[in-house]
Amino acid sequence: MRGGVQRFALVPILKVISPFTVVGKRNLAQLKGPAVFVANHQSHFDAPVCLAALGGRVRRRLVIAAAADYFYSTKLKGAAALTGNTCQGCRVALAGVELANLRKLPADEVKRCENCRRILVIE
Ligand SMILES: [Zn+2]
Repeated sequence: MRGGVQRFALVPILKVISPFTVVGKRNLAQLKGPAVFVANHQSHFDAPVCLAALGGRVRRRLVIAAAADYFYSTKLKGAAALTGNTCQGCRVALAGVELANLRKLPADEVKRCENCRRILVIE
């Protein structure tokens, strides 16, 4: 259902509303395993444009994570980047001890923001 809506409604509508050009899409053919795609936040269309631009193979497995702003201010939690000492999900700066404890965790350990409980993607 989700794939059909994206393929037959989202992608064609976006190509009319906001035409875009994809550069380097052939590099995705070699992609194996998990990956993080980060939009540059030009507009609220970032997520739909990424879905449309990445193509079916990647789009089917893509999960959108976004800051709690205009569209994403629900109780549902996802992931957020940790930029410096600030969780980009709740925009709260982590305390020094909390930040140090996160950085001590093994690389494969899931790290969460103590304030909003989102999974933190540490840059
Ligand atoms: Zn947070």
